[in-house]
Amino acid sequence: MAATNVFRSLLACGAPKLCKQIPAVAVPLRMLHLQEYQSKKLMAEGGVAVQKFQVVTSLEEAEHVAEKLKVDEYVIKAQILAGGRGKGVFSNGFRGGVHLTKDPSKVAGIVESMLGYNLVTKQTHKEGVKVQKVMVAEALDIARETYLAILMDRHVSGPILIGSRHGGMDIEEVAEKDPDAIFKMPIDIMLGVSDEQALKASGELGFTGVHLKEAAEQIKRLYDLFIKVDATQVEINPFGETPDGRVVCFDAKVNFDDNAEYRQREIFAMDDLSETDPREVIATKLHLSYVGLEGNIGCLVNGAGLAMATMDIIKLHGGEPANFLDVGGAVTEDQVYEAFKLIKADKHVKAILVNVFGGIVNCATIANGITHACEKINMDVPLVVRLEGTNVEEAKKILSESNLPIDPVDDLDEAAREAVKSLELS
Ligand code: GDP
Ligand code: MG
Repeated sequence: MAATNVFRSLLACGAPKLCKQIPAVAVPLRMLHLQEYQSKKLMAEGGVAVQKFQVVTSLEEAEHVAEKLKVDEYVIKAQILAGGRGKGVFSNGFRGGVHLTKDPSKVAGIVESMLGYNLVTKQTHKEGVKVQKVMVAEALDIARETYLAILMDRHVSGPILIGSRHGGMDIEEVAEKDPDAIFKMPIDIMLGVSDEQALKASGELGFTGVHLKEAAEQIKRLYDLFIKVDATQVEINPFGETPDGRVVCFDAKVNFDDNAEYRQREIFAMDDLSETDPREVIATKLHLSYVGLEGNIGCLVNGAGLAMATMDIIKLHGGEPANFLDVGGAVTEDQVYEAFKLIKADKHVKAILVNVFGGIVNCATIANGITHACEKINMDVPLVVRLEGTNVEEAKKILSESNLPIDPVDDLDEAAREAVKSLELS
């Protein structure tokens, strides 16, 4: 995904200061993230221990699912791309996105309380995420819950294993209050996880007896899967043990490296875009890097760095950007028009700031794109335009001859100030 890659590369090249100013919810380290049931399918194929399950998308399916599964106890789990479901609350007041029941006749009712309602968790927006799929799985007794993650770590320049004996629903709290309860183990990417290292990690997680070897085996298989599918993160919480000697991945969160899309076609085809901002989906198709934010100044910029700087300067002058939008270097007039359409589709936008530095981009292309967009779109908000660089004189001429109510500005700082000021006037 284009927008994702932009942010990722910025973060990777050490621009956290800029990124910090974007609200945490909006930092789109998107990376493909599958639903739990999809991840568990991949895990099962890789020999990783997961419970057997069915996925339900309608009430009709819910009626038959218990019978199909036929197990002693059922665990019913709302499928959304956010954690903390166990302690979440639905928009209909129903509490808990994870439910256990031994009574098959209760399964359909629980699914019914979840399907079609928004689930709000610590990790979602205030309004939550609409549940469109529910997983019904065989519940197992959990004797002990641990936390296990394998991820790509910038500091060690490679994969790292992170674990804690204190897994389950409150790992964030553990990380905050007792960071020593979390251990980290770098993995040599050339060698993978050795038997010795797997046993050591298993021991650190507090596994003993039959569970010790079993957990070590699961850790190795999880690492093999991590490499095979080009994951950037595999997080299992809880990574738990059962009283009958098994070690099972009760939950799964797997993220994938977008740069590996070309060799992970089947996995990327599973991308469930229903939870992605539809504007971001459109932008991706148009080869524009767009990320919706929560402010009211729409931004159209070329270059990710300049886009970040533009957002920073808007904030510096007391404004809030409504979006990140990088039209890129090879932008066409038509893309500029589409970019305006995307910005204007956001009802919160009360002013638009165009900030283009023409290096590869010809400023006249942008100017023509702007006039074209203004003819077709009802541009009922102030439009501040700062163009600089290649063919800027021609661009300025195009804009001034268009007689459009555009506020042309030469300097970025002034442009941002003007955009913020225009909000007070409008
Ligand atoms: P999350 O809240 O989104 O992280 O969802 P989880 O899948 O981790 O489920 C939340 C909690 O439900 C887990 O930490 C477990 O304590 C519990 N849970 C999940 N599956 C099972 C199961 O099969 N058996 C039992 N006994 N508890 C489960
Ligand atoms: Mg969990």
